[in-house]
Amino acid sequence: MTRAEGQKMKIAVLALQGAFLEHEQMLCRLGADTFEIRKAEDWEKPKDGLIIPGGESTTQAKLLRELGLMEPVREAIIGGLPVWGTCAGLILLADHVVNGVPSGSLGTMSIDVCRNAYGRQSGSFFTTGTIEGIGDGIPMTFIRAPYISRVRGNARILAECGGHIVAAIQDHQFVTSFHPELNDDPRVHAYFLRLARRH
Ligand code: GLN
Repeated sequence: MTRAEGQKMKIAVLALQGAFLEHEQMLCRLGADTFEIRKAEDWEKPKDGLIIPGGESTTQAKLLRELGLMEPVREAIIGGLPVWGTCAGLILLADHVVNGVPSGSLGTMSIDVCRNAYGRQSGSFFTTGTIEGIGDGIPMTFIRAPYISRVRGNARILAECGGHIVAAIQDHQFVTSFHPELNDDPRVHAYFLRLARRH
């Protein structure tokens, strides 16, 4: 679906668990409309994109299955719905997860992901970095973060940090292993809105 310039974007935010509110606040700041996906009926509403937030991928996968949302969400993404997965959301979108596979998750993106990859102690940290197509000095908050060990097929690396891939894109699917919604810089959300507008 293409939105005319100036028309408000409507972004669905998966709100089963984790840091979804912060995404809504950032999108609101950028002038987009959001609504929460909490049950199967919510999914019926028209939308220009979907955000799958950080949190706990095993919990989110379990709730998606229990609520009957796993298949409709997967089908919509395969059908071209723009999606952004942050952290746990990235894990759900990956088609291959090393250590701790949340069995039967969305798996729509051709990336290999290492879960809880930085270990317990060093799992949470802050840095700034460059994301291709977005800019330099982007705040990057990592919380028990995964990283991408390999991209395949159409997937492309957008950012690396300490030798690990931390952001990637595959057509209309975008993932970050850090949490841009927890910092004050709206550039990554603005990038996702542009991506959603293009598709
Ligand atoms: N470690 C979490 C998981 O495996 C992800 C952490 C996060 O989303 N901040 O799902």
